[in-house]
Amino acid sequence: MKINKNYDNLVPNYLFAEIAKRVNDYQAAHPEKDIIRLGIGDVTLPLAPVVIDAMKKGADDLGKKETFKGYPDYEGYAFVREAISDYYKSFGAEVSSDEILISDGAKSDCGNIGDIFGSDNVVLVTDPVYPVYVDSNIMSGRSIIYANCTKENNFKAMPDENVHADIIYLCSPNNPTGSAYTKEELKRWVDYAIKNDAVILYDSAYEAFISEDLPRSIYLIEDAKKCAIEFCSLSKTAGFTGTRCGYTVVPKELERDGHNIYKLWYRRQATKFNGVSWPVQCAAAAVFSEEGQKQIKENLEYYKENARIIASALDELGIYYTGGKNSPYIWLECPNGMDSWEFFDYLLNEINVVGTPGSGFGKNGEGFFRLTSFGDRDKTIEAVERIKKLLAK
Ligand code: PLP
Repeated sequence: MKINKNYDNLVPNYLFAEIAKRVNDYQAAHPEKDIIRLGIGDVTLPLAPVVIDAMKKGADDLGKKETFKGYPDYEGYAFVREAISDYYKSFGAEVSSDEILISDGAKSDCGNIGDIFGSDNVVLVTDPVYPVYVDSNIMSGRSIIYANCTKENNFKAMPDENVHADIIYLCSPNNPTGSAYTKEELKRWVDYAIKNDAVILYDSAYEAFISEDLPRSIYLIEDAKKCAIEFCSLSKTAGFTGTRCGYTVVPKELERDGHNIYKLWYRRQATKFNGVSWPVQCAAAAVFSEEGQKQIKENLEYYKENARIIASALDELGIYYTGGKNSPYIWLECPNGMDSWEFFDYLLNEINVVGTPGSGFGKNGEGFFRLTSFGDRDKTIEAVERIKKLLAK
């Protein structure tokens, strides 16, 4: 019996365990201190009432013979896919309901999509990076190359014509840096992918946070349907982190190596995934109703205002950052040349504020730090006041 030896190549990810350890040790030594956590990537506001009503109705349906539902369709119920297709239309993207597949979240699909690609493909990820892209490809034995995101390019890597890649992960607005590509920038990636016969795996989990005139889907870019798969999620859009629902778009016309990609992905899902439950799909459809859109906007505005409060403090302090405007994440340069963990300890010890050290997301994250806007408003304001007092000194 042999295990998959590729797992030996995974780098242990101590980031969140190490944060928890340092915070717990500090709290144990200083039980009276009020620690504010701006490191979390999870949402904190409850689901919208219209979503809860739909979920309850869905649960009631399961309790009656006439409305009972068994296994769902592999690609998700048509009414949910149609609602998502209309949602795409609302911001100008043409995505038909039969190109959409409902999933239990973007993490699973981003991680599983590699099943349909050969292990000898070269994978390009941006650095800093959402670790799922890297680890899932290491597990499959693929070689990974990195495109550097730095202060010089405002944490937006652009394609290098001298480098070949077969699979390209892009995340915009980005976790962890909050940077978001413009249409022109994405067009360069689309052109590069087509030239290289590559596929772009586009993670738009944070599209709902876009406020400026920036693309909310890669399908707003000409020719993207010839080269891109898009992953999206209701986790941050509508607070579904614990409820679990997302969707993946695979254009029907997307072909590689003599194969239709939609058909391959459908086959993969039909083999290894049995769909999302009826109450959750009912809840998901409610998100895209007129009332649902109104109600989820209230939560999104709450988080966006938190982000604005954090960003304006950094503006006042003259600290360089990306994100905050079109993203729940604020990615800042650690002041006074501190490295990421030094700054983490400094904030924890001096003002009892917790963030996420940027070095945990890749080598280009060293010297940077991530704050999130998913916390409570009053606590965010209090944390920002503490940061201003500390760093204005
Ligand atoms: N993609 C990115 C970039 C994320 O940051 C996250 C969650 O943190 C996900 C995907 C996961 O989304 P889901 O909860 O739908 O699995």
